[in-house]
Amino acid sequence: MKTVIVTGSTSGIGLGIAENFALNGFNVVLNGLGKEEGIEKTRARLAALGAGDVVFHGANMLEPEEIADLVKTTEEKFGSVDVIVPNAGIQHVEKIEDFPVGKWDAIIAINLSSAFHLIRAAMPGMKSRKFGRIISIASAHGLVASPYKSAYVAAKHGTLGLIKTVALEGAEYGVTANAICPGYVETPLVSGQIADTAKARNMSEEEVINEVILKAQPTKQFVQVGQIAALALYLASDQAAQITGAALPMDGGWTAQ
Ligand code: NAD
Repeated sequence: MKTVIVTGSTSGIGLGIAENFALNGFNVVLNGLGKEEGIEKTRARLAALGAGDVVFHGANMLEPEEIADLVKTTEEKFGSVDVIVPNAGIQHVEKIEDFPVGKWDAIIAINLSSAFHLIRAAMPGMKSRKFGRIISIASAHGLVASPYKSAYVAAKHGTLGLIKTVALEGAEYGVTANAICPGYVETPLVSGQIADTAKARNMSEEEVINEVILKAQPTKQFVQVGQIAALALYLASDQAAQITGAALPMDGGWTAQ
């Protein structure tokens, strides 16, 4: 039985990915912020879905040592870490001259550096077992920019550089590394962003949805969490062994423009 770690899986995209892996017989390690009671409910719900075990590790993605412990504890419990999904992320929308320095540091740490720490800790085991799947949840903002998102866009572009490098390092060891680049997905992260963008651009929330979000996405539809979770599961499969170093957009045509 294979084991997957999904960072930031107490909510949104990460939760959807964890759910799909649980459904398909993986051992799943959940991670993220949240109230203990709610996390336990999620853990039990996912455990009831499939054959594998579902556990939670509370590593803070701001703390490299806690991230290393997440990998170590998982290897000790399940014997291997076969798939990692660096997914945890935060956002802050503000023009660069007012962008709080602390927010820049936190976004780079959580959205980019935590993936480095996770991969760094998981790579030796993956290489020695000659199997590994690294599936980073980047963003269309890893490929193109939008105003007022300097830290997020920088972190997501950095993620693609990291993934390409790791793909080369893992290529002869059965370890693939890819990034999924979603457009706008309806999650708590985006709801917050709609309010922040409305403030930054002096628009109503409805105007932001129609004129900013739907304008960027030619299909005029949000990406669904389940669609991303299906791609993540495919990338973890044997059939995806030759996909590596790729940035795969799932953005309703946004980055085709
Ligand atoms: P979300 O806010 O629903 O979930 C974020 C998760 O990260 C939560 O589980 C949260 O607890 C966790 N997290 C935040 N800070 C953490 C920390 N310090 N330590 C551990 N966990 C932490 O957001 P989401 O929309 O599901 O976003 C998930 C990923 O997808 C992010 O990397 C985001 O950039 C990316 N993404 C989202 C969208 C979108 O439209 N929602 C689009 C493209 C990419």
